[in-house]
Amino acid sequence: MTDTSRRSSLIGRNLLAGAEPDVAGDAGHDGHPPRVGFFTDTSVCIGCKACEVACKEWNAIPEDGLDFTGMSFDNTQGLDASSWRHVAFIEQSKPLGRAEAAVDHSDVDVLALAAQGSGTPVGEAAITPTSPAPSPSADGQTGLRWLMASDVCKHCTHAACLDVCPTGALFRTEFGTVVVQDDICNGCGYCVAACPYGVIDVRPEDGGAHKCTLCYDRLGAGQEPACAKACPTDSIQFGPLDELRERAAARVEELHRVGVEDARLYGHDPEDGVGGDGAFFLLLDEPEVYGLPPDPVVTTRDLPSMWRHAGAAALALLGGVAAVFAANAGMSGRRTGRRGR
Ligand code: SF4
Ligand code: SF4
Repeated sequence: MTDTSRRSSLIGRNLLAGAEPDVAGDAGHDGHPPRVGFFTDTSVCIGCKACEVACKEWNAIPEDGLDFTGMSFDNTQGLDASSWRHVAFIEQSKPLGRAEAAVDHSDVDVLALAAQGSGTPVGEAAITPTSPAPSPSADGQTGLRWLMASDVCKHCTHAACLDVCPTGALFRTEFGTVVVQDDICNGCGYCVAACPYGVIDVRPEDGGAHKCTLCYDRLGAGQEPACAKACPTDSIQFGPLDELRERAAARVEELHRVGVEDARLYGHDPEDGVGGDGAFFLLLDEPEVYGLPPDPVVTTRDLPSMWRHAGAAALALLGGVAAVFAANAGMSGRRTGRRGR
């Protein structure tokens, strides 16, 4: 696209909100590759944290605390400047669809089985009764379920962090992703307040803002991001965003068909408050359960109308001041006339 035709295609459009089919093109990339991103299918996440470790290793991110919360097996506790992937562990007293949470395995002596070793024929294995099964609750279930989800920067279609950055440290890549350049960031923290997901953060040790780059250096070399490469269950899938959306829709349909009715997509819709995310998720419960905002909106969405209102208010103020001057001038003219009589 030429400069002139790009300019004319942008005129009259609010690039801070709404549908945005070509984020990289609108950012000035000619002949760019297709937009890429992540589809994270939390229904197959096993909470191994391989993604967290791979991200830390590839990006040489410093250690930022190894303490457990005391509430779960989560020792990362959230996304921040030194945790660009975070695997949430949520414990619920709610069975998965079709899961047989009340199956009684209490007659299996696992320690005796382990002592026999794996070479023992099944018929000779020591399976002995142990303690009685726990009583089922009123709804007939006894089990808990774990929800595990690997969270990351959403690489928003309308990225407020990028909109508010005063130094140009945040930029849109040719792949449609959002990257921060450490050497240009001045650590002002405007992006931290602007992000609707609480993703980006300033690292006190170096004073710079940091977040997932979607492994920009690996993409440039034709490789997939480190976290997706390390994920053993393909919970994190990387690829062209359009393909991922099709794959995700088929997966939700499949889960509904086998009885997992709570399965739903989050962040996939180009018509949502951020114009759709470059990293979207298949969840098994409400977004709030995973610590995700239910209806995120790009925080710069209303800037154009705010500026329009501010402009109108400034004009009205100027008009008022001019009217006062005009009235004063008229009065002093009449006073001068009176003195002249
Ligand atoms: S999730 Fe936050 S940090 Fe990531 S692109 Fe969106 S606004 Fe920026
Ligand atoms: S894409 Fe790269 S930087 Fe982003 S979370 Fe995955 S490994 Fe980390």
